[in-house]
Amino acid sequence: MNSSHLTCPDPSDRPDLWPWSARRRNGVLEIGGLPVPQIVETWGSPIYVLDEDDLRGRAQTWATAMAEEFWDGYGMGGGSAYYAAKAFMSARAIQIVTEAGMGVDTASLGELTCALEAGAGPNTVGLHGNNKSDAELRMAIGAGERGIARIVIDSPAEVDRIAAVARELGRRARVMVRVTTGVHAGGHDFIATAHEDQKFGLSLATGVAKKVALDAASRPELEFIGVHSHIGSQIFDLSAFTESASRLMKFVRELKDAGISCPEVDLGGGYAITYTAADEVPPTQKDVARSLACAVRDACAQFDLEVPHISIEPGRSTVGPTTITLYRVGTIKHVPIDGGERLYVSVDGGMSDNIRPALYGARYAVTLANRTSDADSSLVRVVGKHCESGDIVIMDAHLPSDIRPGDILAVPATGAYGHAMSSNYNMLTRPGTLAVSGGEGHWLIYPETVSDLLGRDAALTPKELPST
Ligand SMILES: *Cc1c(COP(=O)(O)O)cnc(C)c1O
Repeated sequence: MNSSHLTCPDPSDRPDLWPWSARRRNGVLEIGGLPVPQIVETWGSPIYVLDEDDLRGRAQTWATAMAEEFWDGYGMGGGSAYYAAKAFMSARAIQIVTEAGMGVDTASLGELTCALEAGAGPNTVGLHGNNKSDAELRMAIGAGERGIARIVIDSPAEVDRIAAVARELGRRARVMVRVTTGVHAGGHDFIATAHEDQKFGLSLATGVAKKVALDAASRPELEFIGVHSHIGSQIFDLSAFTESASRLMKFVRELKDAGISCPEVDLGGGYAITYTAADEVPPTQKDVARSLACAVRDACAQFDLEVPHISIEPGRSTVGPTTITLYRVGTIKHVPIDGGERLYVSVDGGMSDNIRPALYGARYAVTLANRTSDADSSLVRVVGKHCESGDIVIMDAHLPSDIRPGDILAVPATGAYGHAMSSNYNMLTRPGTLAVSGGEGHWLIYPETVSDLLGRDAALTPKELPST
């Protein structure tokens, strides 16, 4: 086995794996100017620790890169970035990314409410979803002076539903149509038709996308603003995005020939980040924006189109690398395996704070964070405390053989889809997210308590709730 992903690199080896402020000083990992033992002693473990300056910087970089690369000098077109809030949602995080110039993409009543309550301007908010509720549509269309910036239509029947809610509220809803371009998600291959068989979007190949766009554009209650495509997630290969972008521009041409203009085109999210030392270095945010700009301009030249406003929806690549999870080491077990032994190192969290290894076989890196060690390294599996053998945090790692209870482990790149996908399995309380900067920390999300959990138990906490 290639062992390069087993050894955990320090921030100085692979800066792309760590938040900006992560460094080791006198053998101790620190983040936001705070040594990790101090963080764990003060705020507890497990804990997600988010580097606030890193989040702000990434958000600014997305906003600036898109604005720069798509600036055409005529006040037309332009570029922007919407933060896909499902990756990590907190009101303060929304304030940071919107102050940095990003919009916000939401996909549920909860996300939409949180974004608006956080103060995101409705004009910079989008709504996605393959099964939007009437309550979601009402909130989206009713927000602010003229509703949110865009509702992304994901099925033929939605045209009627959005139009009905807009009529009821006496408003015109701004809509986009989500298209499946046939570019295979999450990979290097373009499988031209293979990816029609999934729940999102409307097929370009079968002509459904065009029918729905024509329908939407014909409704007086709707303002059709353009088309959208999201091809997948954790994609390293920029050519997948540029291929999808040019297919989308070809569709824009078809719509123009049918008399419909698309002032806006959204190319979705999905830009990869680094999870382990074995990963290649992903394209930088500027590389992404520049590649998209080149592809869009080429396609516009080829199809004789003006460059529309181009937006993207990066979630993981905005927040993923900003956060590390800190765990305290508990039980250590030596388990014989073929030709040796494996050290099972149990930590105080697990699949409830990071489901991605169990869900997708996702790989993470880990480092001994509270000290360094000259001991030989051992083959280690870092596991959680849940009642499942699949409760694995790190499948294979090399950690110093003198690892002991009380040590602190740091797992980088847990900012996206960590807290967002956390659960209360085994009635574990979900960890809080602590923002750190300049030697100080404050909660973005409080850690849950057992009484929070019992507060939902009807026998233990009787409440008068309206029956539904
Ligand atoms: C999940 C999602 C995103 C964000 O994806 P990342 O991989 O986190 O960048 C963007 N747009 C849509 C429609 C999504 O569903």
